[in-house]
Amino acid sequence: MNEVRFTYKDGKSKALTMSYDDGIFQDKRLIEIFNKHGIKGSFHINGGLFGAVHKHPRLFAEEIKEVYAGHEVSCHSFTHPFLEKLAPMEVVHEILDDKKALEDICGYVVRGMSYPFGTYSSEVITILRSLGINYARTTVSTGTFGIPEDFMRWNATCHHGDKRLLDLLQKFKDSNRELSLMYVWGHAYEFDDNDNWNVIEEFCEKAAGDPDIWYATNIEIFDYITAMRKCELSADRTMLYNPSAASVFAKVNGKIIECKGGEHTKLN
Ligand SMILES: [Zn+2]
Repeated sequence: MNEVRFTYKDGKSKALTMSYDDGIFQDKRLIEIFNKHGIKGSFHINGGLFGAVHKHPRLFAEEIKEVYAGHEVSCHSFTHPFLEKLAPMEVVHEILDDKKALEDICGYVVRGMSYPFGTYSSEVITILRSLGINYARTTVSTGTFGIPEDFMRWNATCHHGDKRLLDLLQKFKDSNRELSLMYVWGHAYEFDDNDNWNVIEEFCEKAAGDPDIWYATNIEIFDYITAMRKCELSADRTMLYNPSAASVFAKVNGKIIECKGGEHTKLN
């Protein structure tokens, strides 16, 4: 009998994704570091606060497309309120106004989100789902490398300021479990506030260039896992049906097999 285990893209067993909030000017420096190392991130942005000048100045609307090219632009609500304290109609406006502003700029459907202040309620989640939000990140750190059961309650592995950051990275790199996921989040202004850009530089240097890691945005991981979860295996484990458009990869008796979208793939 075949032993069938899903992997990430191209048979990779691990994925690393980064997640940064608020659309602030320090994101430019952070993205330079990510790009230098081939690391991908998702940037959660408030479409009603472009150019806002307060403690942590925000990027202007005209800068967004260029600054975040190659990474994911994602929602963070229009004006950064506590969503669970708003009337449902206000939640709708907060998300749709943000989504519209970002989509106008980026030219793609913006489907991701992180919760402002990390807070939410079940009612907020119901509304977000109805508005086409596919995932939403909390501010909870798990210290683990699992994939989320519910992407609307997507907890991170850790914040970049976590003392365990490099230890967790080493543990992640040493792990040989399929579908390990390391998810790191923060705000890029923290590197200025704490004068510790070296933390992220060192992390990226150590995380980069591993042939067994898929460096992906949040939405790429959501899309891949969703496609994987839709696959159906035949009862005798000799065929896999992948109803989605994109390829899914599986390790069958130790051999990597690509299961193309819309096809039945023979596993023997
Ligand atoms: Zn925020």
